[in-house]
Amino acid sequence: MSTDADSPVEWCASGWRAPDKRTVAEWASENVKIPNSARSSSFDPTASPWLAEPLEFFSDDTVKEQVLILPTGAGKTTVFDVAIPYIISESPGSILLSMQTDQDAKEHMEDRLLPILKSCDPIAHALAGVDRHAKRKDAVILPHMSLFVGGANKQNFQRKSVRYVFLDEAWLIKHGLIEEARARTHSRWNSRVIVVSQGGDQHVHLQSERRDTELYSAWMRSDRREFSMLCPTCDEVSRWDFKNLKYEVAKTEDGRIDEAAIAQSACYECPLCQTRYEDKPDVRRGLSLASRYVATNPGGLPGHHGWHAPAVALFHERWGDLALGWTRAQKALSLGDQEPIKIFKTKRLAEFWREEETAPEVALGGAGYIKSDYQNGEAWEDEEFESRLSPIVRAMTIDRQRDHRWAVVRAWKRDGSSRLLWEGKVHTSEGVEELRKRMNVRPTFVFQDAQFETGQVYDECVKFGWVAIHGAKDDGFMHFPKNKPATKKFYSELKRASAPGGGTALYLFWSNEKVKDVLANLRGGKGARWETPDDVSGDYIHQIASEVKRDVVNATTKAVVSRWVRVRKDNHLWDCEAMQTVFAIFNGFLGSS
Ligand SMILES: [Zn+2]
Repeated sequence: MSTDADSPVEWCASGWRAPDKRTVAEWASENVKIPNSARSSSFDPTASPWLAEPLEFFSDDTVKEQVLILPTGAGKTTVFDVAIPYIISESPGSILLSMQTDQDAKEHMEDRLLPILKSCDPIAHALAGVDRHAKRKDAVILPHMSLFVGGANKQNFQRKSVRYVFLDEAWLIKHGLIEEARARTHSRWNSRVIVVSQGGDQHVHLQSERRDTELYSAWMRSDRREFSMLCPTCDEVSRWDFKNLKYEVAKTEDGRIDEAAIAQSACYECPLCQTRYEDKPDVRRGLSLASRYVATNPGGLPGHHGWHAPAVALFHERWGDLALGWTRAQKALSLGDQEPIKIFKTKRLAEFWREEETAPEVALGGAGYIKSDYQNGEAWEDEEFESRLSPIVRAMTIDRQRDHRWAVVRAWKRDGSSRLLWEGKVHTSEGVEELRKRMNVRPTFVFQDAQFETGQVYDECVKFGWVAIHGAKDDGFMHFPKNKPATKKFYSELKRASAPGGGTALYLFWSNEKVKDVLANLRGGKGARWETPDDVSGDYIHQIASEVKRDVVNATTKAVVSRWVRVRKDNHLWDCEAMQTVFAIFNGFLGSS
């Protein structure tokens, strides 16, 4: 028996026992009694063979995180039924069990968890010994540890410090809260996080960015154990996979899909020897009981283990029903409704749902010139560098990264047409200033993005005479010109700020959404002529298509709003072109409402 930092002497005083050498399943089948269980009142390991291995890992202190991605109907709650009394008895430490809502948690505690704990012999005496006030609907306070049960919300996660964190239905947990819950263990050496879920979304949209969900990340970090069938015919092991489910699709006389034929013809085929197994309870049960997990990610983080099984591996699921469910979902998909197929994949196959997100088609027609035509600051047509009346002006925009800069130089005509003269990467700001001089860009026509390392950006703007600009969520900014009506524009008035290193820097805000709408029109050839050279770089081609406009749900208001979303990691040159568009709008070359 291992002891926790928060297990005081009382527990030991209650009687020291030699460590229980039985497997977790053996221990549980003797001590865990499931209330209102239809099949058997004691825990029965053969009722859910896909849970056997993850349960056994509870007796191993080197395990840091267990991620169980299982279909609906897999008896996921059994994990808590067994693990919680086992922990209290054999490896005590405080526990936080997070369920969907506070109400779900209360009901689970009352109807299931407390009855299990009270009927579990090794811990019943400890439980009986505590004051009745120490047994609440949201917590059980024992002398040597506490058990907290609550909904998956920040309040429940913030105040507790525990050794074990259990997260139920993790696919529903708000982004950021899984990490919050992990932090509750305060990185104890023997802490553990147990994540239990069906499949869920692979991505989450956060403001204007697409990221992996916490559940998907947790799974990807694990050793990704796939529940695998041991074929009685060829003696080989292959992962349970819905694509091995075979069935006949026939049409009825009136041309509809014959659902009865699908259900009747369903069978499971070993992908290695092509033996077909009949859809019968004893066949399915035999295959399921003989299955084992096979790790598929040897590069996973040490101590992070993941288990996955699809519904075809659960012996109580008829393959015919699954084939039917799939066929119906496919039918809906062909009619344009992808929700049923998403539900089937996440709930029945316990897979992650990847929203197809294709980068926009961007055809950059070379405009019949190359970058070296302008590499030493050569004029474009009748451009005059010294004159304020020049019909063409050029701007430089800079996207700042930790150890390099991305820059774009574009020349603009007053009718809004423009020509890209330089694009690429420069190592330092001094290098950018060199480039500026060579390319004949006026210092005040240099816009540097100020979102990252803002202080340094301001200092450089003072030093080199550039302008700092900030992309903002706002749709527009009010301007109050003297003796004229107030107007709303896609950029703010030019403001002054004291730079950290001294001096005054000029800065402005611009509307990320509105400016990118304008840029998308230019990129799509729908606005003024927007030229790119014949030898534009691969980086540019990749990054210029890095964002798309799509509908996203606002996290706070739940309103659906159309937003620019990043679909490729590197979007620097796209951002540089957005800042170029700000320059053109700011100077009145492109219209602004
Ligand atoms: Zn086989």
